[in-house]
Amino acid sequence: MSETNGIVISGMKYKESSKILTIYTRELGKVSVLAQGALRPKSGVMASTEVFALSNWKLRKGRTFHYIESVDLIDSFYTIRDSMEKMLFGFYALELLDKSTPMEEENVVLFELLEKFIRTMKGLKNILPLMVAYELKFSSFIGYRPHLDGCVTCGGKSSLAWEFDQTKGGLVCTNCRGQSRYPVSDREVQQMKHLLMSKLEDVQFLDIDDNTLWRIHNRMSDYLLYNLDVREMKSLSMIKQGLF
Ligand SMILES: [Zn+2]
Repeated sequence: MSETNGIVISGMKYKESSKILTIYTRELGKVSVLAQGALRPKSGVMASTEVFALSNWKLRKGRTFHYIESVDLIDSFYTIRDSMEKMLFGFYALELLDKSTPMEEENVVLFELLEKFIRTMKGLKNILPLMVAYELKFSSFIGYRPHLDGCVTCGGKSSLAWEFDQTKGGLVCTNCRGQSRYPVSDREVQQMKHLLMSKLEDVQFLDIDDNTLWRIHNRMSDYLLYNLDVREMKSLSMIKQGLF
């Protein structure tokens, strides 16, 4: 049996009263859990099986699924559902994690980043800087830290203009640029660095306007899709359509 904190990243009904959950855990990475009888009124585990819920899980590993020995809810983060924007950005963070991690591979840093993201989001009004910082940090933690110090191709530190080339993984100078469609100003490069380096709970205090943040978000989400080899994400398409 294993004991671990974990956040539900997706769930679906199974048979009459059970649910199959995907949980991102601190100690086991991503696991598939069969929550038997979770939907029965007296099951006592229902709140823990909702998406975004953080719980302490005691799990027993079976052939296909993990099974719940017992579970203690830590925080349901239910208030995220009060705002369409928080819910979509939250789903986006969960979908990113789900699409980029294999089953049962521990990654404490990714777990802690997600937990902090959800925790911080809960209390914020403007969550756009938080989401963009999450994209930058998440890219770095899964091995695609964008190169923001000079040209990724020639190493040059100064250029008349910069472009962000997702196929090369970062900035390229005027001499080296190819077909990239993402011009980036020096100021924006600095802002991306600040978002990357600041603590998640502090990014709300950075002085970056919403237009710039949306531009960085578009660039980073395209960059992530490219690197994860994913054509689209449901949550991301809804964010792009401005459905909040
Ligand atoms: Zn160059």
